[in-house]
Amino acid sequence: MHFDALNRRDFLKRAALAAGATAIPATAWSAVSARASALHQSAYVFDGHVHALDREFYHGGNITDRVDAGQWDLPRAKEGGVDAFFLSVYVPEEYYPARYETKQALRRIDHALDQLQKANPQLGLAMDGRDLTRLRQEKRIAAVLDIEGSYDLDGDLDILRALHRLGLRSAQISAHNWNQHYADACCSPAQWNGLTTHGHDVVREMNRLGMVINVSHSADTTMAQVIDASERPVIATHHGLRQVNDIPRNMSDALLKKLIDRGGVIGFQIGSEFAYPREYAWLTEHRKKTFWDTTSIPERTRGKTIYQIDELMAPSFPMLGAEVPDEVAMHIDDWVGVVDRAIQLVGEDAVALGSDFDGGPTLARGMRDVRDLPMITDAMLNRGYSEERIRKFLGGNLRRVFSQATA
Ligand SMILES: [Zn+2]
Repeated sequence: MHFDALNRRDFLKRAALAAGATAIPATAWSAVSARASALHQSAYVFDGHVHALDREFYHGGNITDRVDAGQWDLPRAKEGGVDAFFLSVYVPEEYYPARYETKQALRRIDHALDQLQKANPQLGLAMDGRDLTRLRQEKRIAAVLDIEGSYDLDGDLDILRALHRLGLRSAQISAHNWNQHYADACCSPAQWNGLTTHGHDVVREMNRLGMVINVSHSADTTMAQVIDASERPVIATHHGLRQVNDIPRNMSDALLKKLIDRGGVIGFQIGSEFAYPREYAWLTEHRKKTFWDTTSIPERTRGKTIYQIDELMAPSFPMLGAEVPDEVAMHIDDWVGVVDRAIQLVGEDAVALGSDFDGGPTLARGMRDVRDLPMITDAMLNRGYSEERIRKFLGGNLRRVFSQATA
């Protein structure tokens, strides 16, 4: 790799300067009841989607640093009672046109493994359910590597197996918001009517290896076909409901029922973009585009080296939510209301947390960052949920399905 140490230091310094402009706004913080706090801290909290290392990859520093910027770092995750999380190995669309996606995925995995090693004994890599149990006993937080936006790695089963050997235990079957060569994504024009024949080979191989098939970001057709084809339960790590906000990234009732009938689980993304139409409409108007719009990418990335794309991307990390006026703001009970609708539809054994911290969610009013996860527990208690139901949502369900998918 010709990105030598000097260049990288120089790049990180410039990137850090650029990042200074994205300090998190101070919002009023909401305290929770003692009962909620105690329940939350004793529960097994397993978050299905976290952008834990984008900042460190692009701006330097370690996962163990308390940075008090963005929505997630390890010290604050501990305060938020987190026991385990899916660590997004995020390869944005900007790396696809020049076909850097495989290289970028490998760079991100190398970086993640290095960070996990440095964070030992606070953190450990989890590759199956037994690892979750062991790490809990060792009082370490468990990280599951989940590739997001691999484009297609050419759908190469050899590469898939190599990534599995490196510790990858979950992959989104479609490439973020773009189609790739074997599966349609949620938010691009349909190309394959779901999965190609080769896409079915990928599903079969992931089943054989014991890798979680993550259908977040997939097209409806892809999702339906994956659920039918997979011999193991399928997970949608960070999602919302289309019955609440009718956007392609959210899940229809019919697909949710299908997912759950086959033993799967849905993680709920924590932002108003997915969960609260009034705030979503305001955000879309002010951003002048949908959050999955990728149309300008080929133009912006043409002729660039991978390192120039790093520089292009660096200012966007960590990805933060927006400041919104009070009259459109989502409150934590609005968000729990979405989970509640899913529970009414498919029961309490199918729902999970998939926050997407530092992946850009606009949080509920009063929620600062991962420290405030107990606000969810508090809101659920206020709705009269049993402690058992809350524990299932916070981590029990995802732990069960992850263990089945990787056994
Ligand atoms: Zn993500």
